[in-house]
Amino acid sequence: MAYGIGVAKGMLLTLKHVFRPAITVNYPEQERGVPVRARTNLLWFEERCTGCSTCAQACPDGCILVATSPREDGTLSIDRYEIDFRICMYCGLCTEACPYQAIQSGGRYNDAVFVFENMYRDRTSLTRESQEYLRANDGRYPNGQTQAENPLRTEMKTGRSRVEVAGSEGGFGPQRLPGRHISEKRD
Ligand code: SF4
Ligand code: SF4
Repeated sequence: MAYGIGVAKGMLLTLKHVFRPAITVNYPEQERGVPVRARTNLLWFEERCTGCSTCAQACPDGCILVATSPREDGTLSIDRYEIDFRICMYCGLCTEACPYQAIQSGGRYNDAVFVFENMYRDRTSLTRESQEYLRANDGRYPNGQTQAENPLRTEMKTGRSRVEVAGSEGGFGPQRLPGRHISEKRD
């Protein structure tokens, strides 16, 4: 008898939910929007980036490579910007360190690849991804802001643009801080 009551209770619960709106989506045909500030992926916005390398210095894993060359006006030209997602732990420290909101958490979560090496993203692939994101979100960045609300500062001179050695000898990452580079030379 107790068994029959259990079945009836279960059926009643099912019946109750049949008439309620579904809270699930038919993935992958349907996708839920990613909430603002969700820590899904990293998006790099070239138009916001000054090449200051603060993100690369903040990354504990050394995933980010920034190579720049100084322009005559004191700003930096970005020669390379690459992220190695094979070793990224999505901690978001790079996004917190960036003074210009040029790298932000957000974007798609269906980021699986068949070839592991494809998780190394260069400047072109990062830019393609971030521009697709902006197109799909009416020009709104993952932090919810538009360019009008948070204007670009890419013409600003950075601390690095005044350090002559920085960026002149290849990739710039946590292992190649200017201070460390100079003290190594003095030893
Ligand atoms: S999310 Fe963390 S591990 Fe990944 S690139 Fe940024 S700082 Fe490095
Ligand atoms: S900290 Fe921001 S502005 Fe500086 S290089 Fe990184 S992404 Fe670009």
